[in-house]
Amino acid sequence: MSEQQSTSNGVFKFYVDHDRPNCIGCGACVAVAPEFWEIKAPDGKSDVIGSERQEENGEIVRETLNIAETNYAKNKEAADSCPVNVIHLHNKETGEKII
Ligand code: SF4
Repeated sequence: MSEQQSTSNGVFKFYVDHDRPNCIGCGACVAVAPEFWEIKAPDGKSDVIGSERQEENGEIVRETLNIAETNYAKNKEAADSCPVNVIHLHNKETGEKII
């Protein structure tokens, strides 16, 4: 996973998981957390900036990004804002799927 968006102590307690194929490109995540989310791709779907991208048949099927605790709140806000629930957050230490 990408090490961008890290804090100086380098501890990545959480990761963001974007189910990109089901994104409807509404832009809510970009509106609340533009430092992590963008819509620049021609298909109009959002992307997690600096994420690791998994592709199948030329399509991005999943994006993941490790994040530190300090970046949790912003991404939780993005996840809460998503109308189709395609943004997920996981706690790497406990394995818990938070949303
Ligand atoms: S809020 Fe959800 S559906 Fe809207 S652009 Fe972001 S990931 Fe896609």
